[in-house]
Amino acid sequence: MGGESQPAEARAFVGLGANLGDPRRAIAAAIRAIAALAHTRLVAVSSLYRSAPVEAAGPDFLNAVAELRTSLAPAALLSALQSIEAGQGRERPYRNAPRTLDLDLLLYADQVIDTERLRVPHPRMHGRAFVLVPLAEIDGALDIPGRPPLAELLRACANQRIEKLAPAEALLGESLREPAARQALR
Ligand code: AMP
Repeated sequence: MGGESQPAEARAFVGLGANLGDPRRAIAAAIRAIAALAHTRLVAVSSLYRSAPVEAAGPDFLNAVAELRTSLAPAALLSALQSIEAGQGRERPYRNAPRTLDLDLLLYADQVIDTERLRVPHPRMHGRAFVLVPLAEIDGALDIPGRPPLAELLRACANQRIEKLAPAEALLGESLREPAARQALR
């Protein structure tokens, strides 16, 4: 516990959420920014979902999950995600305030990380439909270290309101048309 090791290229998952301003635009911009990160490839993006706020204030959230391959170490990846959040003007006037953009590092290979700054698997992901449903869309057989199978976790949060809105291609429109990115968006 507490340590980090770094494989050559790790499979990582990032949760995206937004519920202020223009959430669609914020999520699309964040996906593009993630795709442009150094030492990182975007390999899949879930559909866009709408979900009720959980432990948070304000209007419904828009959510998605992105799958990456990265040679950034977990802490460096978190820093990169926080820079993207900051670049989109996220402010934190109080805990769980509505946010223009929230990026969570959900999974990093099969690592369990428990440092002051970073906990992976994300400590609340296993009870949140807005994370689990888009994650399962990308890989329904995914293993969350230390947790029951994904299908079981999904059943346990079946009462949480979540609605699929659009495939990632529709969200990203014209802007990710180069072959590698298109392939990433399947
Ligand atoms: P939030 O405001 O909910 O996005 O929480 C951000 C805080 O959670 C930051 O201080 C991060 O250092 C910390 N944190 C711990 N683990 C994670 C994680 N897996 N992904 C994103 N932030 C994390």
